[in-house]
Amino acid sequence: MPAQILISSCLMGMPVRYDGGSKRCLHPVLTRWQDEGRLLWLCPESEGGLPTPRPPAEITSGASGAGVLLGQARVLDSEGSDVSAAFVRGAEAAVKAALAAGIRVAVLKEGSPSCGSAWIADGSFTGVRVAREGVTAAGLKAVGVQVFSENQLDEAAACLAEIERMSVASAESSQQRSTLR
Ligand code: SF4
Repeated sequence: MPAQILISSCLMGMPVRYDGGSKRCLHPVLTRWQDEGRLLWLCPESEGGLPTPRPPAEITSGASGAGVLLGQARVLDSEGSDVSAAFVRGAEAAVKAALAAGIRVAVLKEGSPSCGSAWIADGSFTGVRVAREGVTAAGLKAVGVQVFSENQLDEAAACLAEIERMSVASAESSQQRSTLR
């Protein structure tokens, strides 16, 4: 089976965003990966038990997803409810799925308090961005998954190609060693 890639469900057109919509991405790299049967898609916030639609949520005070995982920061929705536990459950589900499938590369929706990897909102619900990552992106990075956004699909493809090249080289090296014994 080819190496799998974990991807945000909303990028695959699934209507799982807080507003009930999706963010379908039609980049040719994604189309190729889908044709090759490589994509495993998941919505951390749905996995964490949140309904769709739901109020938008942000990590408080410009903190990062790693802080939420450590219990040092919270995720609040726009109505003031603390949804941190659901976000952590979603991250744990994504990590579990990635580890079970041997996933080394993920493509997650930029800007989301779960999936953002280069930036997220600052917690003020005013549209201000901070250079932090979301809760699931942080959880995946912590277990060694390379996380990219939909804006970095060529970089993600190059990373996957390098991982597969190293894997083939390692397998060939092992085979040579066992032949010489
Ligand atoms: Fe998309 Fe991630 Fe938000 Fe789910 S949690 S809707 S997959 S950005």
